[in-house]
Amino acid sequence: MRKPRTLDSWREYNKVLALKNGENFLEPIDLNGSLEIALIYPNVYEVASASLSFHDLYARFNALPNVKCERFFFDRSFKKFYSIDSLKPLDEFRIWAFSIHFELDVLNIIDILRSYKVPVLSKKRNGFHPVIIIGGALTYFNNALLGLVGDVVHSGDLTDRFLAILRSLTGKESRQEIVEALNEDPHAVKGELFSPAISQKLSRSVFITNNSAFGPRFLIEIGRGCKRACKFCVAGHAFGKERFLPVEELKKSLDLLKGRIENVGLVAATVTDYPWLEEAITYLNERKFKVSVSSLRLDSLSEELLLLLRNSGQSQFTIAPEGGSQRIRNKFSKGITEDHIHTALEMGLVAGFKKVKLYYIYGAIFETGEDREGIVRHVHEARKMGYSQVIVSLNPLIPKPGTPFGKLPMQDMDKLRKIEFELRNWLNMKNVKADFESVKESVMQFSIANITGDDAIEFLENKSFTSERKKYLLDLAGRINSKRKEW
Ligand code: SF4
Repeated sequence: MRKPRTLDSWREYNKVLALKNGENFLEPIDLNGSLEIALIYPNVYEVASASLSFHDLYARFNALPNVKCERFFFDRSFKKFYSIDSLKPLDEFRIWAFSIHFELDVLNIIDILRSYKVPVLSKKRNGFHPVIIIGGALTYFNNALLGLVGDVVHSGDLTDRFLAILRSLTGKESRQEIVEALNEDPHAVKGELFSPAISQKLSRSVFITNNSAFGPRFLIEIGRGCKRACKFCVAGHAFGKERFLPVEELKKSLDLLKGRIENVGLVAATVTDYPWLEEAITYLNERKFKVSVSSLRLDSLSEELLLLLRNSGQSQFTIAPEGGSQRIRNKFSKGITEDHIHTALEMGLVAGFKKVKLYYIYGAIFETGEDREGIVRHVHEARKMGYSQVIVSLNPLIPKPGTPFGKLPMQDMDKLRKIEFELRNWLNMKNVKADFESVKESVMQFSIANITGDDAIEFLENKSFTSERKKYLLDLAGRINSKRKEW
């Protein structure tokens, strides 16, 4: 293993070492095997360590007797990228497996490849370059871009077939042989064609750390996929039929960790659809775990459920009306009424919550000022009812492929900025905090999610600097929009 030679490399090395030392493993990981894989999360450690995919891939790759899989993450200041596990630099690995979940992380993948002068386009690599594998949430709905970057793009959930192929490799094969073998998986992307794999296997944390975005919390996935099919939502359309972790398995996992963890996060697209939710939370409460949940569907709440969450230490509850008016919620197929919202707010207060967080999507091409006024009405109502703090999370609508809004134009950037300005003014009230997703980043997300053909090649091939790539994406949004009819 090469030791750092420069001051910058030492800084980078020590940063990774400090994060490694902050990890507390909950299950043994066998880091032995001749087939070495670098598992790379293309975002900062705080996000990487909070990603259940990152944990799951790490555990399942290392469960193969011939595989030694080590973890890496992105940091803007890094040049070498040292392994969290062995502190070896990335270029000592022949297989780089990226797990990508956010559109803008494509830019970070490009930066990592460029830092080691690995061609961004798969077709330009030769036998001396690493094998680039790409998987993750982005592969469920558009692989036009990823298919050009990855030598192997695994679409959807990790399959047993993919693991079996890895199991058959020794690490002595040529680059070409590894690429060909992995592309035999039926869920490997073939040009524009892809079929996301849907697996029943759910994931959980392998380690906990204070440096995660969620703190030292054991996360366990209790459900994947969603039957609700809101028109803007990828989880409701591309992640497959909903499946759940049997409650007995959940209890078994928690029993094994008794005394080793305090905080448990239950993760699902819609936690309230989990068939055994109250049983699970009661079980956790009785064993004095502090529980939090990733999302509550506001028409499925009950006072008992909120009370259980409150008693287990959750100080704020989060609901997602998504739209301010009934008209726009109907357009979203959200299935939520004003009564549901009012009742949910009342139940939260009865359960003892003083803080509430409300999620909205704004800026749809068919949105009107009246729809937005509804958002402000909800906030007024929550304050009047007695909430001491109302947090409003506002996110521009990003039409994504694979959803019924997939062919919709995105509102243009100037208009979105005006709407944001208007909403900021309206929500400028005491004890109200308005969190806006960046308009610019949302527009870039739209372009990456919808990029195709020649645009994808030009974006990857001809733009050398991150600033050029960002500008290209902002311009591309206008070109994509101009080809789309108003909905
Ligand atoms: S927005 Fe929520 S309820 Fe609607 S489809 Fe997505 S995950 Fe399901």
